[in-house]
Amino acid sequence: MPRVLLVEDHPRMAQAVVTALQAQGIVCDVVNTRTHAAAYLDTASYDAVILDRGLPDGDGLTLLTQLRALRLSTPCLILTARDALGDRIHGLESGADDYLTKPFEMAELVARTKALLRRHATWHPEQCCFADLTVSPELSTLLVGSSSITLSSSELQVLWVLMREAGQVARRSALESAAWGAFSDITPKALDVAIHRLRGKLAALQSKVTIVNIKGVGYALVAADTP
Ligand code: CA
Repeated sequence: MPRVLLVEDHPRMAQAVVTALQAQGIVCDVVNTRTHAAAYLDTASYDAVILDRGLPDGDGLTLLTQLRALRLSTPCLILTARDALGDRIHGLESGADDYLTKPFEMAELVARTKALLRRHATWHPEQCCFADLTVSPELSTLLVGSSSITLSSSELQVLWVLMREAGQVARRSALESAAWGAFSDITPKALDVAIHRLRGKLAALQSKVTIVNIKGVGYALVAADTP
């Protein structure tokens, strides 16, 4: 699953972007200052950054200049309220890969983000399969044979990681980080609740796959042999 860092200080705008990206199977962490953004980028690995220019602690472009100076090449999309040609050129010269002028259509932001991820080969929109399961991240859908069921964002991320491990154990920390971000303060119970829901959906689809708990380590998918 691609992971994006959104640096945006407007709460409603941030929430709208997160919702739109998550609907496409893109995990999105949000910070509202340059300082927090620098700390997140220092700690976690992101496939792309969406960077607002007007931040409480200064111009987002300064952060980008600092990152490029450190040779951090994470692709970056700039959000700017300024649409003068000079500002756009300045943004691209500072190391931005693309820009979008506010106000923008959410569909365009999503399309540009996906294009950015694709160009940097971190976006894999194809389906993921394990035994009789097929997950389509763009549709948030789990398929078994001709039956399908919709997955919530956290269920999708958890199942995706489990399927990627292809029967090996996925650690709790990896599953939690995929579903809720590296810096979320979710309780340990959240993962167990997501697993419980996924088990219910696998059963509803009469899948041969079950999710087993490896105590103290994590979870793994097990496919029953075809009779
Ligand atoms: Ca702003």
